[in-house]
Amino acid sequence: MTPPDLTTAISDLRRLIKNADRILPFTGAGISTECGIPDFRSPGGLWTKNRPIPFDDFMASRAMRDESWRRRFALEESFAKAEPGRGHRALATLYHAGKVPAVVTQNIDNLHQISGIAPQDVVELHGNTTYATCLDCARRYDVSWVKEQFDAASQHAPDCACGGYIKTATVSFGQAMPATAMQRAEELAKSCDLFLAVGSSLVVWPAAGFPLMAKRNGAVLVIVNREPTEFDELADLVVRHDIGDVLAPFIGN
Ligand code: NAD
Ligand code: ZN
Repeated sequence: MTPPDLTTAISDLRRLIKNADRILPFTGAGISTECGIPDFRSPGGLWTKNRPIPFDDFMASRAMRDESWRRRFALEESFAKAEPGRGHRALATLYHAGKVPAVVTQNIDNLHQISGIAPQDVVELHGNTTYATCLDCARRYDVSWVKEQFDAASQHAPDCACGGYIKTATVSFGQAMPATAMQRAEELAKSCDLFLAVGSSLVVWPAAGFPLMAKRNGAVLVIVNREPTEFDELADLVVRHDIGDVLAPFIGN
């Protein structure tokens, strides 16, 4: 069901939220565009500029690792400056009200944590780009340290002291999904009574399987996204407006 206007959409959403005991927000890049971080698939999004580097290419070639880091440093200003938007703040309000046990996100920008949701309650399906880890020994590195090393070595990415490759703590295409996060997301999707998909084109699998899972387990499905998604027909409420405008009324009350 797609309400005719924003006001009706907000009041429909308000009713569904009021009636729910266990809301699972499932967020994608669209919740962070107002924070200055471009999404992948909107016009002008990252996807149209740089196709992502698959994990196998990262592992196979030093040039690809250098290129991957070069791209990451180019985005550093956007990530470092970004602050939670209205969508993040609304979800944090519902979390503090006890309506939201955890947030499942495809985002890698750390903004749910910054908005006040405890790190253990942010289930990151695609990892986090605000720090790096060694792929062999899991040692953690700051992006700023990697940048210093990169510049000092004539634009070559450093390796870990153990010899492993250092990569942002994100999940690349072709890289295994984090098993614990996937399992937790599944449990949350199956036990929620309202699944709130926000700002995701819902095309990246296996992450896109969660709305379906929730719906099959009896949850009400709400999709808030500017563009249509493949799951709109399944949803109980589809809101095709700006996320910040839709969720702003839920901040702090
Ligand atoms: P996506 O780019 O595929 O889809 C984003 C969707 O959000 C689009 O359908 C777009 O129409 C919508 N949208 C954008 N701004 C909006 C707004 N203000 N209001 C309403 N709708 C808006 O994003 P995805 O589904 O999350 O998949 C992309 C993958 O890329 C993610 O899995 C993530 O790992 C990664 N990514 C993350 C970030 C981030 O962390 N902020 C940014 C870009 C990409
Ligand atoms: Zn190491």
